[in-house]
Amino acid sequence: MRAADIAVVDTPPATGLPNLDYHWMPFTPNREFKADPKVVVRAQGMHYWDYRGRKLLDGASGLFTSAAGHCRPEIADAVSKQLRELDFTPSFLRGHPLSFKVAEKLAGLLPKGIDRVFFANSGSEAVDSAMKICLAYHRARGDGTRTMFVSRERAYHGVNFGGIALSGMVNNRRAYGNMLAGVAHMRHTWLPENRFVKGQADRGVELAEDLQRLVTLHGAENIAACFVEPIAGSTGVLVPPKGYLERLREICDKSGILLVFDEVICGFGRTGKPFAAQSLNVMPDLITMAKAITNGAQPMAAVAARREVYDAIMKAAPENAVELFHGYTFSAHPAACAASLATLEIYERERLFERGAALSPYFLDQVFALGDLPVVTDIRGYGMLAGFDIAPGPVPGARGHELQKKLFDAGLHIKTTGDSAILAPALIAEKVHIDEMCSILRKTLAQYR
Ligand code: PLP
Repeated sequence: MRAADIAVVDTPPATGLPNLDYHWMPFTPNREFKADPKVVVRAQGMHYWDYRGRKLLDGASGLFTSAAGHCRPEIADAVSKQLRELDFTPSFLRGHPLSFKVAEKLAGLLPKGIDRVFFANSGSEAVDSAMKICLAYHRARGDGTRTMFVSRERAYHGVNFGGIALSGMVNNRRAYGNMLAGVAHMRHTWLPENRFVKGQADRGVELAEDLQRLVTLHGAENIAACFVEPIAGSTGVLVPPKGYLERLREICDKSGILLVFDEVICGFGRTGKPFAAQSLNVMPDLITMAKAITNGAQPMAAVAARREVYDAIMKAAPENAVELFHGYTFSAHPAACAASLATLEIYERERLFERGAALSPYFLDQVFALGDLPVVTDIRGYGMLAGFDIAPGPVPGARGHELQKKLFDAGLHIKTTGDSAILAPALIAEKVHIDEMCSILRKTLAQYR
């Protein structure tokens, strides 16, 4: 490498910010960010503050993480206490009480029978762990030819190789070669005739027949599992049509395929019940979760499996042998478990899932009222989760990216993906927060024709 090729590290700008050169930021246009940094320094309840002291309303619960609002002292205290008492213990061959308590508490929230909990540290790890559990389950039952997976276009299942192979987002896949072989994709569930439908649309159940077609094409005996987000979150809140998930369940049952709900966004009250499986009344075999499991205060994720899945894998292993050759150094980290337990106690004590369910009609009404703006081409929503699309500019996605920056400058943090925007206020939100969010959105969106 020539000296001229080595990046010159500039003196930090006189903003009170550290030097921004060294951190290679994820899913961020690094060069643009570093020229116009959106650095957040503080959070409380429904708000963030940036380094210039500007207050921002959080319309996305961080990144669908902080359902109980930011900087809850109960969680901070629990983590601090835990780190002073037991900072780390391996989760291989050793244990600590809190992980068992969190697993039991999760089992109490999960649909009946889905109560064996494996811990990971991110949604991506939870997805890859769930894929392995599916493969191990079939192998344990003598069904080792079942190695394929079915997922969906416009799905987001994280960024590890399993997850990007399952996902249906071209930008997350195109630079990474062959990924994992043996994944077939169903169509996504967005239909133009269902634009501006609140909740589940009446039309579109036939899209579930894609799974049947793939079973017919590849043979049920080769398919391990079908992965879907009950409501596809990251690609713009695609709510499944009525009867769609039920039909997937039927086809899976008939074909011996495991059904996995990726509830990394939908879980923990986002849809009005603890999990979307309960709100939409379809029971999968496995559920992945992350994000709001600790209110975003610590990295943590989990896979919950039906008891029969766990039992099959236990029974197939020789006595006293490791049953599942999988795990992470930080699986069930004590600080993460402390954060999770404190979070789950807040959800319960403040009845936040019920609170979200009660606020949902108001939230959805206000968001759907934006439908009169010429630039808004569709709005979707369920529970405390909503998405809208804006008419793209000459370069697809560029307008969505610009919108997200304009909103930040106008005092609102939300998530955009391409030309879709995703809204997910914390479950502690008051009507005034919804009003403020929609008023900033209206003013900003009105600038577009
Ligand atoms: N699965 C779903 C449905 C998600 O929405 C996400 C992240 O947004 C992931 C998996 C990946 O989670 P993480 O970013 O924690 O790896």
